[in-house]
Amino acid sequence: MERYSRQILFEGIGAEGQARLRAARVLVVGCGALGSAQVEALARAGVGRLRVADRDFVEESNLQRQTMFTEHDARERLPKAIACARHVAEINADVVVEAEVLDVHQGNVERLVADCDLVLDGTDNFATRYLVNEACVKHNVNWIYGAAVGSYGVTMTIRAHVSPCLRCVFEEPPAPGSAPTCDTAGVIMPIISVVAAVQVSEALKLLTGHTESLHNSLMQFDVWQNVWRRIRLAAPAPDCPVCAHGRYETLAADAGEFAAVLCGRNAVQLAPRNSAPLDLNALAARLSNAGEVKVNDYLVRLSAGDYELTIFRDARAIIRGTDDVQTARTLYARFVGN
Ligand SMILES: [Zn+2]
Repeated sequence: MERYSRQILFEGIGAEGQARLRAARVLVVGCGALGSAQVEALARAGVGRLRVADRDFVEESNLQRQTMFTEHDARERLPKAIACARHVAEINADVVVEAEVLDVHQGNVERLVADCDLVLDGTDNFATRYLVNEACVKHNVNWIYGAAVGSYGVTMTIRAHVSPCLRCVFEEPPAPGSAPTCDTAGVIMPIISVVAAVQVSEALKLLTGHTESLHNSLMQFDVWQNVWRRIRLAAPAPDCPVCAHGRYETLAADAGEFAAVLCGRNAVQLAPRNSAPLDLNALAARLSNAGEVKVNDYLVRLSAGDYELTIFRDARAIIRGTDDVQTARTLYARFVGN
């Protein structure tokens, strides 16, 4: 316990709180800038199990703010969940990381959430947040919303059926393209640190049972405009479809193939549902005449003309060089099959 001595000295945690952290399992959804900062902090704090779900791989343009990753990870194009697990193993070998290289969707979110003590939001999109919100309310798991773009960030802690849920506060997600994103407005690392720090502080309070110290607010920060704003939250909305009426509309949505234009990246993700896992080495061999092929344990990358296809074991692909879904589907069918 020497390792945690300064944390145990802190009266909010103590030996009992430390034992609770060790016994906990936390899901981090999205392991980009916010998610990897959360994972590192929770691992250092001694949270016993961290389930890390992410669909993407490390790129050089991540390194300015995604502090857990290295140039080696970017060169190897490691999936973020895998790179994260490797780094945590060096930071704190007592922590078990359950790396989940996948796109979180209505078909898997409940499995990911249901046996966790807490969920932290490290995603970059509202569609996934609404899914996480519904799964958490349904399974009575607390979760901590967080977002950052430019120099602005926001966070809110959601205690299922106790405090307002995401849908209580934001009745509708912003229309696609209407809100700035990190790919259109950029982002600076300090706002990531601020939002992740507040999220992790709330996580430590919840995991050690100190609900009296939660901030019970919508917290907003702008580290460039020097704004720190706190909007107090009251009870859950009496007419909220999710937490008042138990209507889980996004969980019930059709789970066919999911195509997402990755905003500002000139790329499309295609995520076929119910596909059998791919044999990546066989796929790489098959593609060897189509262009330049690289393969590792987690993905195959094909560079063919103006396009670059990154294909994961779960049959998901990120297709670069187009922001047109139909073009992406055509390329996927041509190189991967249906
Ligand atoms: Zn609600």
